[in-house]
Amino acid sequence: MKIASLFSEKTVFSFEIFPPKKTSPIETVYDTLEALQDLKPDFISVTFGAGGSGNGHGGQTVAIAELIQNEAATPAVAHFTCVSATASLVATEVEALRAAGVETVLALRGDLAPGQEPADFRYAYELIPRLKAAGLCVGAAAYPEGHIDCLDPRENIRHLRAKQDAGADFFITQLFFNNDDFYRFREAAESAGVAAPISCGIMPFLGKSQIQRMVFLCGSSLPAPIIKLLAKYEDDPVALRQAGIEYACNQLVDLGRHGVNGLHVYAMNQPDIACAAAEAVAAAGLR
Ligand code: FAD
Repeated sequence: MKIASLFSEKTVFSFEIFPPKKTSPIETVYDTLEALQDLKPDFISVTFGAGGSGNGHGGQTVAIAELIQNEAATPAVAHFTCVSATASLVATEVEALRAAGVETVLALRGDLAPGQEPADFRYAYELIPRLKAAGLCVGAAAYPEGHIDCLDPRENIRHLRAKQDAGADFFITQLFFNNDDFYRFREAAESAGVAAPISCGIMPFLGKSQIQRMVFLCGSSLPAPIIKLLAKYEDDPVALRQAGIEYACNQLVDLGRHGVNGLHVYAMNQPDIACAAAEAVAAAGLR
């Protein structure tokens, strides 16, 4: 069954992982996959060139998506960025995905290095029809608080709608820490005719520098309760990490109770995060 059709049946529960650094053997991801498989997610997505992995075009994303499907017996979503790719490179990579049996992709623009110019694609919505034409099920990114380069919330929604119009079957959001931001965004998206399911991407904060880096990269806001936790556990990294995981679990449960389409956990290749999230969601009767 195509991943997009799962959303009409239930709250889809999924994880994101990233490929190991290019200098590390692919086998380093085996333990993560084994632990995640036991939690029976509806899919596992694997990033493309993100997470400091040194992976990009020609990297390990397709090979890991294949492992997710064949070794972890779980549907895979391969992230796919386009801004530095030519159309012919995209065609080659689509062939590699098909050869690996991967049917679902997350179509993304990606980010350019300073001074770099886009090749054949400027925006994700231009990539989506290529992937659809290849018979793939296609997800795209959504930004509850707006993309970092997009200052106008109405533009943000227009760009979301353009991705749906280009053929996106579902969306996964950027991380956010205040669920009310998501509920407002969902309402605005629905009012603009966005009917494709939107899965909520949730990342626990694990430490002060990690979260500062993340919010400066993506423009998500840090609500007061998190700032208070960061202050309270400033000198206790273990307690801070635990508080971050608990905060994320509470967010997931609240979102599930508000009838969201999907819960997507940025597991960061750390099985205890995935386990805590799966337990919280199950304990709340959400799966
Ligand atoms: P787009 O939808 O193309 O948007 C990019 C910017 O252009 C936005 O500011 C948007 O508002 C604006 N825009 C869109 N259309 C137009 C238009 N017609 N005219 C003017 N402006 C426009 N990055 C990676 O490198 N690898 C990954 O694996 C990865 N995974 C991700 C997973 C998720 C769930 C999310 C939310 C992001 C991920 N990213 C990843 C980051 C992503 O590549 C960046 O956020 C990137 O800057 C934007 O990608 P996009 O697909 O949303 O681009």
